[in-house]
Amino acid sequence: MKLDWLKNRHILFDIIVGTLIIIVIILLDIFIIKLKSNPAEDKYIKTEQAPGDESAKIPIAVSAGEKVFIPILNFHHIDKAPANLSNFNKGFFIEPDKFETILNDLIKNDYRPVFMSEIVQDLEAKRLPKEKIMAITFDDGNEDFYTKAWPILQNLKIKSNMYIMTGVRGKNWVTPEQIIELDKSGLVEIGSHTVWHPLSLWHV
Ligand SMILES: [Zn+2]
Repeated sequence: MKLDWLKNRHILFDIIVGTLIIIVIILLDIFIIKLKSNPAEDKYIKTEQAPGDESAKIPIAVSAGEKVFIPILNFHHIDKAPANLSNFNKGFFIEPDKFETILNDLIKNDYRPVFMSEIVQDLEAKRLPKEKIMAITFDDGNEDFYTKAWPILQNLKIKSNMYIMTGVRGKNWVTPEQIIELDKSGLVEIGSHTVWHPLSLWHV
């Protein structure tokens, strides 16, 4: 009886000491991670990029010595994702109001969205941008760019870049007339996104 009581006391002592050791290890890990982290990398605008992707963050354009980080946000569909899509494919959709929230976050944080050609000009001239420039790009040339994204971008006077697949026209895609209108607006830079790629089967 007496021995059992002693044994239990030992087990309790082991548990307390073990727990304390684990707590010390965790605190040390947190301290080491803090020491190693680059303060520049800790500056993010927290915003939602795609439904269900809570971890998406936009890095702030910072110049560290000669290095400049210019955020490029890439979108596909600005629309509510069809319910029958897989979660993976739903990740290519972002609802218009969330898209608008992201744009307003960018404006609030002094970002200036530019054309990719302007970034290339800066790179070629080895010029450091004086402002927090960034690029907003859209792949594929989906119809919802014109119907959902463009009214928001136009209203906020935000420049964007749209890369279209030249081999697909018709239902679900921007029309040649819309492409000309977007180009003439001075707010959208049109580029090529191959002739066609099989992922477009998602929305056929
Ligand atoms: Zn694509």
